[in-house]
Parts: sequence; structure tokens; C-alpha cells
Amino acid sequence: MQDAPVIIWFRRDLRLGDHAALSAAAATRRPVIPVFLHDETVEALGAAAKWRLGTGLRLFAEALAKRGSRLVLRRGRALDLLKALVGETGAGAVYWSRVYDPAGITRDKEVKAALTAGGIEAKSFPGAVLFEPWTVETQSGGPYSVYSPFWRNIRGRDPGPALDSPNNIKIPSQWPESEDLSDWGMGEAMNRGAAVAAGHAVVGEGAAQARLERFVEERMTDYREARDIPARDATSGLSENLAWGEISARSIWQRAIRAREEGNTGADKFLSELGWRDFACHLMYHHPKLADENWRDGWDSFPWREDNDDAERWRRGMTGEPFVDAAMREMYVTGRMHNRARMIAASYLTKHLMTHWHVGLRWFAECLTDWDPASNAMGWQWVAGSGPDAAPYFRIFNPDTQAKKFDPREDYRRAFIAEGQADPPDTALSYFDAIPRSWGLSADQNYPEPIVDLAEGRARALDTYERQSSNG
Ligand code: FAD
Repeated sequence: MQDAPVIIWFRRDLRLGDHAALSAAAATRRPVIPVFLHDETVEALGAAAKWRLGTGLRLFAEALAKRGSRLVLRRGRALDLLKALVGETGAGAVYWSRVYDPAGITRDKEVKAALTAGGIEAKSFPGAVLFEPWTVETQSGGPYSVYSPFWRNIRGRDPGPALDSPNNIKIPSQWPESEDLSDWGMGEAMNRGAAVAAGHAVVGEGAAQARLERFVEERMTDYREARDIPARDATSGLSENLAWGEISARSIWQRAIRAREEGNTGADKFLSELGWRDFACHLMYHHPKLADENWRDGWDSFPWREDNDDAERWRRGMTGEPFVDAAMREMYVTGRMHNRARMIAASYLTKHLMTHWHVGLRWFAECLTDWDPASNAMGWQWVAGSGPDAAPYFRIFNPDTQAKKFDPREDYRRAFIAEGQADPPDTALSYFDAIPRSWGLSADQNYPEPIVDLAEGRARALDTYERQSSNG
């Protein structure tokens, strides 16, 4: 077994730097076979996420090729594929980086048990989060459900230095066959949207590193104040890269710590935002139903509306509420949505439109290129009021007041809503190039009237909530 290859099974960790599993494999001095499997979890991805993964895979395969290696692609059930690859290559080990969503954990446990039973070393490594979810504990020993004490626990801890990418990735004497990425149709469900979103995606490990550097150098100082203004390019944009593991949270953390040591006053706020991502994974790991069930079961009898025509208008960015529509269109055009806009769009759906957060969660999962199962679920439950540490239900964002505060010059709304503008910008126009033709929308139509009067919508939501609370 001395020269038996090590298979590295890449998933949401498309990088060579700070990759514990890859570094461990390279350190064995045995041949390394990088593989990516189009399994049931890839099949289940939303249109935008699948497309973005496809673009990431193409660049990652190129990065491996530059190092003399390859990315072997196979499609099917993960365990069957890995067994076949082990059989074909004589590999003695399979290594991977952990994921923390329930579907991933179930699959990985099955793979580990079956490979180990077959005498193959099956080993999982950290790398997706700063601190493994089970290593952050309350004083009484359980998981956290409130962010502030979670943050107090981790903010002074050191996740350790980021690992360099291995110098030498030994190649096998013979490569196993690979499928062709272009046969996988990763962008198919995006239809026309792929070409539009491609203009906004920043893909690959090198681009992610450059993005981090640019953020630290040019924007971090103003981050605390500017991060809430959606028209400003004031945040890092790194969620897109973190979602596919093109950069590690640890290397971002260490870079921000260095910036803080050099006197950058925005670093602390940035670190605490990065901490939210770990918190989301922590929650999902300890409560695997985070994306499926109300965290607080008192909400189970709340009369949310299931999918409905108003929600369809919300999806299309046609609610007649400009901040909400700008947010939804930003997602369609860029594959991403500013955090403040996510909160406003989610609040409007769950409160003014009284629609179940599941409906919104699913649409975000379909349309976001930075889709992350844990952050998305935590975000929706937080806004809806059903989650741990959630905003109270009566905290209903008023899109109009929010617009006055966070988009005072209407820059964000103008950037994404073409109707009524004499000379709309490309971002606003490209929305109409990205959406399905079957929606029948064009920039020269009139902008719609609001679905619901904001005061009435708010009163309806509060009234329902109060009746529900007094019954419960
Ligand atoms: P920055 O402000 O530069 O922050 C740096 C990093 O910190 C981010 O890249 C992200 O990894 C992390 N972070 C910041 N804010 C949050 C937060 N509130 N929750 C978790 N992590 C955070 N984020 C996703 O990555 N994927 C999702 O699918 C997702 N869905 C969301 C759904 C809703 C309803 C809400 C309210 C929030 C959601 N978020 C999600 C969180 C947040 O909106 C994005 O992480 C953020 O907008 C990313 O932009 P950025 O990289 O420029 O962030």
C-alpha cells in the first residue's frame, strides 16, 4: 500500500491553499488523485448555484493542470463512484474536507463506514469553518443559540495559520478516466441568466485572494459605516468564493487580524460578520432541521400563506415596492444580493405578504450564486422571527423608511429598476435579458402599483401575530 494513491474528493472546497486534506495527501508522498463527483447533492442544487459551481470547477481543473495534476470528474452516487475509483486506481485512501449540512453529513458517514469496512482509509478534515461546530461550547457544555455569546467565545481564539498550497502534488502512473464537464450541463437551468450573471461572478482561488486583498486595502476602513449601503461597493463580496471554498474562512480571518494589527479600524466589524458564517454552520450542525422547520415550534401554527400570486410577484421583482424589487432584481442580474437588501426582501415576503419563509428560502436557493444552506436558513428564520436569536416578529422592516435611510439618493433603486427612467443603466436593463421570456416583462412597461399598502400590510401582520400569541 506504500505507493497506493490517495483520492482527494473535492466538494465545496475548490482551492489548493489552506486545504488540510490536500496537504495531508501530499505529505504522504503517494500519488494524489483529485476527483469531483456530480452526486445527488450536486443534482439538488438550485440553478444559479449549479451554474456557479460549474464555472468554479472549470477554473479549478485548470489550476490543477497548471500544477501538472488533473481533476477527475464522475457522475452518480458518491459511494458507488468512490468504490469504483478505488478499484480502478488501487487507491488506499480517500480524504475530504467536512461539510455540515444534514444531506452532506449523512452521505459522508455512509461513505466513511463503507470504505473503512472495505479496508480503505477514509478520512475527513476541517477547513470549511474557522472552528469545528462541536469545539465551540457554552459554559454548561452545549451548543450556542445566541450570537453574542458565541462571538465572545470565538473572537479571541486563533484558528491557526493558513496552510500553503503543497509544493508537490504527485501524479499517479495512470489517470482514471474522467467525464467531460461540458456534458454535465451545469448552466442549463440558468438559461439566459447565465450570460448576465457571468459578467458579475468573480471565480477561482486567485480571484478570491485578489478580492480579499482589494477589500482590505481599499474598503475595510469604511466597512463599519458603509456596509449597510447597498449602492456602495463596500463589502468584501467573498460569500461567493466562500460558498465554493475558493478561499478559506481561516485565510480571510488571518488577513483581517493582520490588518487590525496594522491599525485598520474596520477589521473588528468585518471579523464579527465573518463569525456569523461560523455561527450558521454551528446552528445547522447542532440543529439539522434548520432549513426545514421553525426553530421555535410556537410558530408551527402561525397562519403563514404557502406559495401564492403575491409571492410570484415578489420573485419577479414586481411588487411595486422599489427597494424590494431592486433587491430581487439584483439577485437575478448578479447572482447575489446585498445583506441589507436580503433582510428587507425577506421581511417584506414573510410579514407584509404573510408568506412562509420556506417559499423565500427556496427562491434564494434557486437564484443565489453564493447559496449556503446554513447562512440562508439562518437568515430566513432570523428575519421571519421563527429562528434562534431572531429579530422579534414585530420588528417589521418598512422598505420605504429603509430606502430613505440606506438608499437616500435612490442609487440602488435606479441601478436595478429600469421602468420610468429615460436612460436606465445596464444593470437595470440586463434584468430583462436574464429573466425567462415567458414572464413577458420589458423595460418600457409601467412600473407596477404596490401589492399592498405598507401600513396595512404591517397592521395585518402584527394583528395576526398578536392573535396568535394570545391563543398560544
Ligand atoms: P461581507 O459583509 O464582506 O462579510 C464577510 C463575510 O462574512 C461574508 O462573505 C459571509 O461569509 C459572512 N457574513 C456576513 N454577514 C453574514 C450573515 N448575516 N450571515 C452569515 N454570514 C455572514 N450568506 C451566504 O453566504 N449565503 C446565503 O445563501 C445567504 N443567504 C441569506 C439569506 C437571508 C434572508 C439573509 C438575511 C442573509 C443571507 N446571507 C447569506 C448572509 C449575508 O447576506 C451574506 O453573507 C452577505 O451579504 C455576503 O456579502 P459579502 O461577502 O460582501 O459580505
